[in-house]
Amino acid sequence: MAFTLPALPYAFNALEPHVDARTMEIHHTKHHAAYVNNLNAALQDTEHEGKSLEDLFAIISQLPPAVRNNGGGHWNHSMFWEIMAPNAGGEPTDALAAQINKNFGSLDEMKKLFAQAGATRFGSGWAWLCKDENGELFITSTPNQDNPLMDLADKKGQPILGLDVWEHAYYLHYQNRRPDYISAWWNVVNWAEVARRFGK
Ligand code: MN
Repeated sequence: MAFTLPALPYAFNALEPHVDARTMEIHHTKHHAAYVNNLNAALQDTEHEGKSLEDLFAIISQLPPAVRNNGGGHWNHSMFWEIMAPNAGGEPTDALAAQINKNFGSLDEMKKLFAQAGATRFGSGWAWLCKDENGELFITSTPNQDNPLMDLADKKGQPILGLDVWEHAYYLHYQNRRPDYISAWWNVVNWAEVARRFGK
């Protein structure tokens, strides 16, 4: 079963003014679609066709770069659309809020460290809030379309929140102002979905 592009769970303009409609449209229908198509092409007629992304990530260092780049691109964007929502933002509650306070001292401190991870990732990549094997939270960043599920990640864990800091995610509206994009992006974070992923 080939991988397919998931439908965006809201309209292209639903995250305005923080993420503009044109960026969302190009990001979903061009960039993400290309990762899906290129991933399927890279896996076709190989022994790895039909495996889950998680199974591929566990051995990604042994697989061709096209699987790493496009498999990561597909997983990362599929998560990205879900952890954003219209009329979102605000603050996490309950167990997730308590865990953030335990590991970072406060929500503001976590957001500061996460924003730093995104702002200082040189070139293209992602910032992540992850859960480790003991249920503790940590922040990391990865280059290109890598993610913390991959066997070659500096720090491995289960991502529960991820931010795309590729220029294609913000350049039309924010140009070179990546930190402005990151601060505006908190207004569209879907904490209910982040909490669901934290609870899994
Ligand atoms: Mn992207």
